[in-house]
Amino acid sequence: MKHNFGAGPCILPQTVFEQAAKGVLDFNGLSILEVSHRHKDFVAVMEEARELVKKALNVPDGYTVLYLQGGATLGFTISALNMTRGGKAGYINTGVWASGAIKEAKIVGVDVEVLASSEDKNFSYIPKGYAIPSDLDYLHYTSNNTIYGTQFQEQIKTTVPLVCDMSSDIFSKEINVSDFDLIYAGAQKNLGPAGATLYIVKEEVLGQFKTPFMPTYFNLAKQHEKESMLNTPPVFSVYVAMLNLRDLIATGGVKAAEERNNAKAGLLYNEIDNNPLFASKVAVEDRSKMNVAFVLKDEYAGLEEAFNKTWNDAGIVGLKGHRSTGGYRASLYNALPLSSVQVLVDVMKEFATKNA
Ligand code: PMP
Repeated sequence: MKHNFGAGPCILPQTVFEQAAKGVLDFNGLSILEVSHRHKDFVAVMEEARELVKKALNVPDGYTVLYLQGGATLGFTISALNMTRGGKAGYINTGVWASGAIKEAKIVGVDVEVLASSEDKNFSYIPKGYAIPSDLDYLHYTSNNTIYGTQFQEQIKTTVPLVCDMSSDIFSKEINVSDFDLIYAGAQKNLGPAGATLYIVKEEVLGQFKTPFMPTYFNLAKQHEKESMLNTPPVFSVYVAMLNLRDLIATGGVKAAEERNNAKAGLLYNEIDNNPLFASKVAVEDRSKMNVAFVLKDEYAGLEEAFNKTWNDAGIVGLKGHRSTGGYRASLYNALPLSSVQVLVDVMKEFATKNA
């Protein structure tokens, strides 16, 4: 039994893996991998996958749900193109992914103003207290910074249209969708396998873009018109997302997932704060409940190899920090059980007993 703390693609519920495997062998007599995306049985999957997102997040009327391709990386471009009105767009720079969104918006000609950044301290906190000009076309931010383990804990209050990259915390906690004009998220954390990218978009913003460059695929108005089937969608990823959303709702929905996630994060941060060997470099009030970043304290840096061997031997995988930050990162996505976090905590405790 492995304990998968990987940052994404990542663990999904075992029952979802089993049902997905079954669908590969038999989806109404065919394999889900060979069925036409225009077959009524797959159209029904797409419809259910869209509806279940609405159900899980209490999406109000007037919003559309789409499954596209290209990952959140293409979401940087798609969100900018669809939300630009030819004026200025505000961005909060909280690290690699937010910087990617800024870069791609500029590439397609959006006039970007970086309103705040946490680059001065290696993106170890969430900027606060910045001004938001009221005439922005939109404000873009990254709700959870997968690499650094920071997360916005409070909803940004503004009358400016909000655009959010929620790749690594969507479905992990309750949100108020009506606060946003556009949400996007790669599937491969809390939603399903890599391949699909989720968009939740306020219908009234569709087609309002002011840009000379708008390829058909990027135009969310067209995607909405075609009910997320403008071209061949990522069939398998959407199918498994549907299975996973069914499971999420059957296990108490996002509210119950949030309670479980709080318990997991609480357990691990408590250990980091009390263990003599380890430390968190993230501002306490901005700590992510999805990606917990920690390091061996400088005076114990020599123990790195020994610690790596210890957690490997305990069946833990995916604990290495992002290549740009080093250290450790435990991703606690929805499907990771509390018992896996307990295994990690026990490993850390025992390691400290032997080495501190
Ligand atoms: N945004 C965030 C917050 C992410 O965590 C990631 C990937 N880990 C991305 C964007 C890029 O996503 P993708 O690989 O789906 O393009």
